[in-house]
Amino acid sequence: MATKGHKYIFVIGGVMSGVGKGIAVSSIGLVLKQRGYEVNLVKIDPYLNVDAGTMNPTEHGEVFILRSGLETDQDMGNYERFLGRDLGPEDYMTSGMVYQTVINRERALEYGGKCVEAVPHVRDEILRRIEAAAAHNGSQISVIEIGGTVGDFQNALFIDAARVMKLTQPDDVAFVMVSYLPVPNTIGEMKTKPTQSAVRELNSYGVQPDFILARANHPIDDKRKEKLAISCNVRADRIISAPDVRSIYDVPLNFEKDHLGDKLLDALSLSKEKEADFTDWQKFVDATHAENPEVKIGIVGKYFDTGDYVLSDAYLSVIEAIKFSAAEVGVKTKIDWVNAKEFQSGENVEKLAQYDGIIVPGGFGETGIEGKIHAIKYARENKIPYFGLCYGMQLAVIEVARHKLGIEGAHTVEINPTATHPIVDVMPEQKDLIAQGNYGGTMRLGVYPAQLKEGTIAHEAYGADSVEERHRHRYEINPEYIEQLSTAITFSGTSPDGVLMEIAELPKGEHPFFLGTQFHPELQARPLSPHPLFTAFLTASKKRSGIK
Ligand code: GLN
Repeated sequence: MATKGHKYIFVIGGVMSGVGKGIAVSSIGLVLKQRGYEVNLVKIDPYLNVDAGTMNPTEHGEVFILRSGLETDQDMGNYERFLGRDLGPEDYMTSGMVYQTVINRERALEYGGKCVEAVPHVRDEILRRIEAAAAHNGSQISVIEIGGTVGDFQNALFIDAARVMKLTQPDDVAFVMVSYLPVPNTIGEMKTKPTQSAVRELNSYGVQPDFILARANHPIDDKRKEKLAISCNVRADRIISAPDVRSIYDVPLNFEKDHLGDKLLDALSLSKEKEADFTDWQKFVDATHAENPEVKIGIVGKYFDTGDYVLSDAYLSVIEAIKFSAAEVGVKTKIDWVNAKEFQSGENVEKLAQYDGIIVPGGFGETGIEGKIHAIKYARENKIPYFGLCYGMQLAVIEVARHKLGIEGAHTVEINPTATHPIVDVMPEQKDLIAQGNYGGTMRLGVYPAQLKEGTIAHEAYGADSVEERHRHRYEINPEYIEQLSTAITFSGTSPDGVLMEIAELPKGEHPFFLGTQFHPELQARPLSPHPLFTAFLTASKKRSGIK
């Protein structure tokens, strides 16, 4: 059963989803960490996918890759960015993962002839995973986000597991409900009723929240705090105001105003290990809001009719990585989503002249490919800083092969399996997996080391001879073409054995910044440690904005 003395905070959504539960969990993690506690954050996704890797990012948001290679929900990215450290595969679970373990165990006769059921067997597996995450992290406090909203069918077993933990360790478990208080236009008043109903719903599971985070457009006033307190059976001082703020990074600072950190420690019978110090965080937040000169970044991708909201979710880590480096470089960035299809046969590319920097982010499949290659060509020929992330690197190498080296028919076999010049080829071990239709969790995933070449942009930016970065791809620069390609583009980062090309760039004398990475640098960018390659890219973009 549960580890005695270890503290658990379960965060559950009320009223509706999409009101910032993940950011609340990230911020709780930070305010506790700043008080001297080791904290781990756990995300529970109640869907049946075994991991998030098979889901479409334009519908479900970015797939965030952990150091271990596990493909997870974008919230894990926020957790890592707020905590400023890596999380492990133990810190993430889906219903699919939990059920798969139980079913595999059943097939191995490990239940000794018993009837295997959701309760207690699946519930026990949930508890085992939560405890394993705590043990693996060696943390003192775990903050666990139960995905979805109270009342959902899918997350009921997880809430029940939390209830059982509270029952066995009443002093070690606290519940936080992140709720929403609407202010209907016609009434003009903040309404508490939906939250009251959500708390009652949670009560019907046998769970009583200790805290309510009152998400709303505005701060919640004392009158409504009192009302919620009396009707929901929650102390008024534990109803925390969580209004919309300027950025997600303001949220922990806002929680500080309501002393959430101290109150959580109090609820868990913990004392402060040290006074919370937010100096560096505040400095970063101030820098993001500073009135700096603007640079315009075009992100060229395949975009469907999704609207901005979903797009910014699909490329969340890229946007955040830009923000961190922008704060460091002292610029504000304006990001435009540029649909690659506009340039499919080379038309319209001149419109890219307005940008100070161009990014082609990670991607899969054929849509807009030729448009992206035309955009990259335009950036190269017109010396616009260019940063290619994964697919964006592969396509940059194809562009250089086609137009600088004259290798007509240079392509990736992802699009054209019979390309005359398969510059980007499938990795040998991937061939069988694809043939078997075995797609889940089988790409080259997670952290791999890269050796950097002296005298290159990459080496200078990192200030190191080797780095570790996170990957997610099936295809690679074809080793058979490396000698020829190297006459036109520098492979400034390679796997330690020199076989796999990890970074490609043009020399500084030829282009101010033209660089692509086979890995995803955005996944390791953090507010207080921006990624050196994003910083180098924005430094070049700032320079262009000044002379454009
Ligand atoms: N589709 C490419 C590959 O699988 C690139 C993947 C990516 O951009 N993450 O290699």
